[in-house]
Amino acid sequence: MPELPEVETVVRSIRPIIVGQEIAAIKTTENYPRVLETHTPLQFNKQVVGQTIKAVNRRGKYIVLQLENGFLLIHLRMTGRLLTKLGKNDKLKHITATVVFKDGLNLYFKDYRKFGRLYYVDSLDYLNQRLGIEPLSDEFTRRWLINGLAASKRQIKPILLDQSFIAGLGNIYVDESLWAAKIHPETTSSNISRNKTIVLHDAIQLILKRSIAKNGTTIINFQFGDGATGEFAKDLQAFGRLGQTCPRCNTGIIKTRVAQRGTYLCPRCQKPVK
Ligand SMILES: [Zn+2]
Repeated sequence: MPELPEVETVVRSIRPIIVGQEIAAIKTTENYPRVLETHTPLQFNKQVVGQTIKAVNRRGKYIVLQLENGFLLIHLRMTGRLLTKLGKNDKLKHITATVVFKDGLNLYFKDYRKFGRLYYVDSLDYLNQRLGIEPLSDEFTRRWLINGLAASKRQIKPILLDQSFIAGLGNIYVDESLWAAKIHPETTSSNISRNKTIVLHDAIQLILKRSIAKNGTTIINFQFGDGATGEFAKDLQAFGRLGQTCPRCNTGIIKTRVAQRGTYLCPRCQKPVK
């Protein structure tokens, strides 16, 4: 599932193509109006047709197309991809929506699993009410994380996955950040020392930035542009490395389940703390 670096990569790849383009229609296909989360196809078109895309940004895992009035949001969920050309092997039944532009360009929303959604909203309050802090923003300070964890009795992994706490982290980057900070994913947040919290804070930012620089992690489904893949998978230290050794201590990485998610950790570096 695309997380912050992958969504940022998609944003950067489509921004130069669609900024300045005027929307002519939003088509849904396969009798799948559900792809439009906020409106019927008719109402959605009424809101966006004739509007020009002013900017393309990201908030959490949402792609934010800023229009003259309001915003068109896209959430890729599990398998969503945005394409400007269809390949020979792209089946029309997997194209759940198409943004048609006035000059003839199409932006196809290809989504094999069909969990991805488009939204039209008047203001970003819609996202700001649902999403927590942006981990690459100036507001996300060491102090912010120290205070946030001190106030919580939840386990660290589920709180880091909670989009209303920090927006954009998912399973890959949470496991990587906890490995970097040598924190067991089931540790109660308020029991994590100030020093480890500082290491965790810095690791979250560094890992996200490094992954963005490599266009994200491609494990199975993630692609951007018209078929490019991210290269950060080679830099993963714990996630997906079952049966390989911890790069720090040579102990075998194990896979367990935390917060209903497959979770990779080093049993020596990341000892459970009660
Ligand atoms: Zn280790």
